[in-house]
Amino acid sequence: MSKNQNKTGSYSFFNCIEKNFDKAARFISIEKGLLEQIKACNSVYRMHFPVKIGKEIKVIEAYRVQHSHHKLPCKGGIRYSMKVNQDEIMTLAALMTYKCAIVDVPFGGAKGGIKIDPQTISSENIEKITRRYTSELIKKNFIGPGIDVPAPDYGTGEREMSWIFDTFLSLRSGDVDALACVTGKPVSQGGVRGRKEATGLGVFYGIRELCHVKEDMYSVGLDVGLVGKKIIIQGLGNVGYHAASFFHESGAIIIALAEREGAIYNENGLNVSKVFLHLKNNGSILNFPEAKNIKNTEKALELECDILIPAALENVIHKNNANCIKAKIIGEAANGPITPEADEILDKKGVIIVPDIYLNAGGVTVSYFEWLKNLSHVRYGRMEKKFRENVNAEFLKVIETVCKKKISIEEKKMILRGPREIDLVRSGLEDTMINGFHKIRDLKKSLKIENMRTAAFVLSIKKIIDSYEKLGIFP
Ligand code: NAD
Repeated sequence: MSKNQNKTGSYSFFNCIEKNFDKAARFISIEKGLLEQIKACNSVYRMHFPVKIGKEIKVIEAYRVQHSHHKLPCKGGIRYSMKVNQDEIMTLAALMTYKCAIVDVPFGGAKGGIKIDPQTISSENIEKITRRYTSELIKKNFIGPGIDVPAPDYGTGEREMSWIFDTFLSLRSGDVDALACVTGKPVSQGGVRGRKEATGLGVFYGIRELCHVKEDMYSVGLDVGLVGKKIIIQGLGNVGYHAASFFHESGAIIIALAEREGAIYNENGLNVSKVFLHLKNNGSILNFPEAKNIKNTEKALELECDILIPAALENVIHKNNANCIKAKIIGEAANGPITPEADEILDKKGVIIVPDIYLNAGGVTVSYFEWLKNLSHVRYGRMEKKFRENVNAEFLKVIETVCKKKISIEEKKMILRGPREIDLVRSGLEDTMINGFHKIRDLKKSLKIENMRTAAFVLSIKKIIDSYEKLGIFP
């Protein structure tokens, strides 16, 4: 039995998603075979390739899974971790399909993974492995702007996405749309401003929206709003760090942060940027001067708090610790952090769980914006920024004349400003997360669905059925 199965009971990670899917399917009247088609993974590519590391030849195990081709290209991150396996990548690819449908991103779901520990391999060797993996994908037609577009995930970032793009371009020279073969690139390499922090910011927008719903907050005995809410975050990587920073800036109190080596706690709140600096300088969050150490990092999840944000890995809340969780709200920033058994236990306790297939969709939403930017070959705001500023200036002149009052220089600066790329990306993301939240909540209420996860799956499956019907595949 694998370590994951110990936590999830007798079934695999993919079975966990199937279970969630089946719960949602009860609310959809459509032929069973059609639901089976949506559930199944369309293509699974498992590869082994040799890479020379030092004097040795190492055989690297890697995957790319395309879960659904109902919309193309497929889209999903690539993770580097020793835990990578086929079941995990299939599950994460499936989650991508449901996620894209919820936030109206017109892609099928995919995921990739390489079984390596990036922390123990030099960057030169990570580059070699990344480039070889990309050429394997190209050989099998598993990457391309209209085929399958990877992005960062656990253990990867802008640097790896740059290498993927460069390898793709060198093998497909002359492809004018080559930049759109991968997202999450640095801005100087065709990335979009706001992508790096997008998943964390999306998590923040989603939780903020929930905290403004009086009925939901009262149901768990909390006041409306984020200010003063006590939050615990697991994982201070890309998603966790940015989510923590936005919560901190908004007036919420980050009481604990958990990393691999342990957790730190201060009931009066941690300064996220100071902790991050401490982590950079010391290689660990432990021994942060203004906090207590917690040696067993998993114990941090069980502390008293209002909101718990797991932002590291899957299956961290399972049947053995679910009863000890004291949070009133859990925001799934990571993919699949709660096993189905734990889900049921927490549901019975009345905990509000904001599911991964909605909450961490900020990354793919902004990846979609990056893909559109790459295909249109123009920076967002470039065409309209000056025009908007000129129109705003004319408006101001009229207002000043009509009101016979001069507007201050500070006010002018604010009103005159035309939209920059970052403004457009963030407003598009905010709008997407707000809309997604209310669509799930409205469906939950109207169909009397027991929780947000099932409602999110219902919303997503209905949209996928609709796409298939429009394609003419389903009767
Ligand atoms: P990352 O590699 O940047 O960060 C992960 C962090 O978790 C690291 O700091 C790592 O040290 C920490 N960690 C690992 N094991 C831990 C443990 N046992 N306890 C506490 N911390 C631990 O990865 P990321 O991109 O931030 O992804 C995190 C999660 O969010 C993953 O589940 C990923 O699939 C999901 N996700 C990421 C994105 C994205 O845009 N990066 C988008 C959607 C979902």
